[in-house]
Amino acid sequence: TGTPVTVLGLGLMGGALAGAFLRAGHPTTVWNRTTAKADDLVARGAALAGSPAAAIAAAPLVVVCVSDYDAVADVLDGPLDGRVVVNLTSGTPSRARALAEVVARRGGGYLDGGIMAVPEAVGTAEAVLAYSGPRALYDAHASALGSLGTGRHLGDDPGLAATHEMATVVLMWGMLNGFLNGAAILGTAGVSASAYLPIAQTAIGTVAGWLPGYARQADDGVYPAHDGTIDTHLAAMTHVVEESGSLGVNAELPRLARALAERAAAAGHGASGYAALVEQFRRP
Ligand code: NDP
Repeated sequence: TGTPVTVLGLGLMGGALAGAFLRAGHPTTVWNRTTAKADDLVARGAALAGSPAAAIAAAPLVVVCVSDYDAVADVLDGPLDGRVVVNLTSGTPSRARALAEVVARRGGGYLDGGIMAVPEAVGTAEAVLAYSGPRALYDAHASALGSLGTGRHLGDDPGLAATHEMATVVLMWGMLNGFLNGAAILGTAGVSASAYLPIAQTAIGTVAGWLPGYARQADDGVYPAHDGTIDTHLAAMTHVVEESGSLGVNAELPRLARALAERAAAAGHGASGYAALVEQFRRP
């Protein structure tokens, strides 16, 4: 049998985490505010604790997955000596760092984590879980955490997992908004979103191929225009803004793109490559 583990919070995600530990053979203690959500897990062999403190006392590895950090504060009750708390609740980097200090003061170790998966994928290799906090703590529990999916340690700063999560959702919103905006534009010509799909998927793949070069330019702070200059993009952005108006579709996204590019051009980057926009994102 594996290391005993405790799971606090049995919502959609917490329940999936506890189920994955059980499937991998870990003696699993669970607690949830609404006790009935533990029924199915208890039927599969989990031990139900009567309180968060009793659940924490039951295992050296304590996984917390509740709605938000206020709920985490409610459930992380009692002494934490010799416990490693793995908080998989979504939140901000600053709250992760503050919680790491609170846990340390109470005698525990802290790892923060972000789950890049839906509950159904938890327990399979496709579920990626990113962790941050002391490397030695991660290494000590990497095998048990491996029951949840593919684990990745990002670094010792406990805020790194939440920071990566922010970066990732911003990226996803950008791609999804772009796709949906494109679908709205094509809709004015009677083209369905499904018909647009193969073109959109190819375009996302093409852009993904540009990223290594953009990453290097963003890191180096020099932006040679290998493809189009910001000025060239600006002309296209203006066309899209104007045409969106006459087609009667929302123009906010192209307007935002144009505003950022105009500021980059005003800062002297008109002849630079698109990656120069990183400087606009680096300030408030
Ligand atoms: P749910 O709404 O399904 O579950 C929320 C859980 O938090 C329940 O167990 C609930 O208890 C508990 N809870 C809320 N407030 C309190 C409190 N004050 N005291 C004690 N327990 C409390 O949410 P999910 O399981 O989907 O999400 C949990 C976390 O996982 C979130 O931070 C979410 O962002 C993150 N996550 C979820 C993903 C998903 O696809 N679902 C993907 C990636 C991350 P009760 O049952 O009693 O209400």
